[in-house]
Amino acid sequence: MPNHFLDLVRAHAPDASRTFIQTPEGRTISYGELERRSAQYASALAALGVRPGDRVALQVEKSVEAVFAFLGTLRAGAAFLPLNTAYTGPEIDYFLGDAEPTVFVCDPARLAELAPIAAARGVKHVLTLDANGRGIASEAADAAEASFADAARGEDDLAALLYTSGTTGRSKGAMLTHGNLASNALALVETWRFTPDDKLIHALPIFHTHGLFVAINVTLLAGSSMIFLPKFDPDLIVGLMGRASVMMGVPTFYTRLLKHPGLTPEATAGMRLFISGSAPLLAETHREWRAKTGHAILERYGMTETGMNTSNPYEGERIAGTVGMPLPGVSVRVVDPESGAELSTGEIGMIEVKGPNVFSGYWRMPDKTASEFRDGWFITGDLGLIDAKGYVQIVGRGKDLVITGGYNVYPKEIETEIDALPGVIESAVIGLPHADFGEGVTAVVVAREGSGLDEKTVLGALDGRLAKYKLPKRVLFLDDLPRNTMGKVQKNLLREQFEGLYAG
Ligand code: AMP
Repeated sequence: MPNHFLDLVRAHAPDASRTFIQTPEGRTISYGELERRSAQYASALAALGVRPGDRVALQVEKSVEAVFAFLGTLRAGAAFLPLNTAYTGPEIDYFLGDAEPTVFVCDPARLAELAPIAAARGVKHVLTLDANGRGIASEAADAAEASFADAARGEDDLAALLYTSGTTGRSKGAMLTHGNLASNALALVETWRFTPDDKLIHALPIFHTHGLFVAINVTLLAGSSMIFLPKFDPDLIVGLMGRASVMMGVPTFYTRLLKHPGLTPEATAGMRLFISGSAPLLAETHREWRAKTGHAILERYGMTETGMNTSNPYEGERIAGTVGMPLPGVSVRVVDPESGAELSTGEIGMIEVKGPNVFSGYWRMPDKTASEFRDGWFITGDLGLIDAKGYVQIVGRGKDLVITGGYNVYPKEIETEIDALPGVIESAVIGLPHADFGEGVTAVVVAREGSGLDEKTVLGALDGRLAKYKLPKRVLFLDDLPRNTMGKVQKNLLREQFEGLYAG
């Protein structure tokens, strides 16, 4: 039966003998194998009672089998629900209670802990899958039919439920349809010029939109192949660059690879594209990468709810500190956060997006969904501007905006000034409760070892460069900024850590 996403995969698949996945140990999985193995997962899930519209949740280590489970879930007509491997028992309890999946697949090492939680939430079947792709789930697939008549699924049917990282309030399930996934992957294939000859270095986790949908779906809808690594491994990646063509990474991949002695123009000569996203790439990283390899990193911008929205151009200038232009079919506007009035070129406001990539709402939260849309546009929560050349620049999350004495302070503006000071590696500017000002602008700085930087030097250097109200009231130093697995700086943790700084 017609299955929107899988039919597109087949329409773009090269012949069955061509490679879909290579593993670092030299295992090769063909497109023919993908068809057979995903059918086995679909058959096994259907035999367990998974029906179109159901959810299948997985909290497993990255493995090739997990990719087949993803595609098997779509073929069975269910929605795929991947969960971060870092989630604890109580967090899993929340997700299972909220999403009510029919099947939950977990790591065998956590079966004893998680099976009772799943049972209490009414999950019918708990299966396992380990980092080697072995477990009850793969055994069920081994024993199942290698052909499957796909469940009928149209563009508007649910393909995945991806929970937002939830740094403020409850984590919400973003409902993504077959049409969302397909349109976004096709737009990226076109924008980034993917062909069946491409070989992608895949070192991202697959519980997040970046590693799951950007990386895997682009590979599938270009009929190309990927070298699938269990995790980020700089030695391995530098060694693989000679036989790959594209890498997708978060900014920390790039900063760590820059420290690798093997990163040279020769090592990267065969690569045609380096892509970065999920968190802001420092302009300095962009410059250093270009100086060391000759390649200009292509930065793009997206989020769980929308997939990818903008990208720097493949041909044309890739401008550091910008996330490029809207993808084909996607519209981006910048509006006044309160009134919704569209702003002019260069003015900072709320970024809103519209297009076939935008999700259909938050799972079982109609009110929350309604409040995050304005006239059919999704309110991203990111503040930014569109410059005179049409490139989008992000200045930060709206919730990170600091309001001090009634003035708006955009952390990125202060961070850019601080980052430019000699001896600074990076910085994060946050607002902390302050009796007089409401919030006090506070800078957290990571300095190079032996730089001798202190609070006075930083404040002295900023004086005269920034309006007085924007100057940090305090400058604190840390060895590292707290980051999540996708490389995002967790400002909520910094705010918690220094909450009482201006108290008393
Ligand atoms: P997530 O839903 O976890 O993918 O997080 C999405 C958020 O990550 C966006 O709303 C942005 O705040 C941020 N983000 C993603 N890509 C970029 C980028 N290239 N530059 C700056 N922020 C980004």
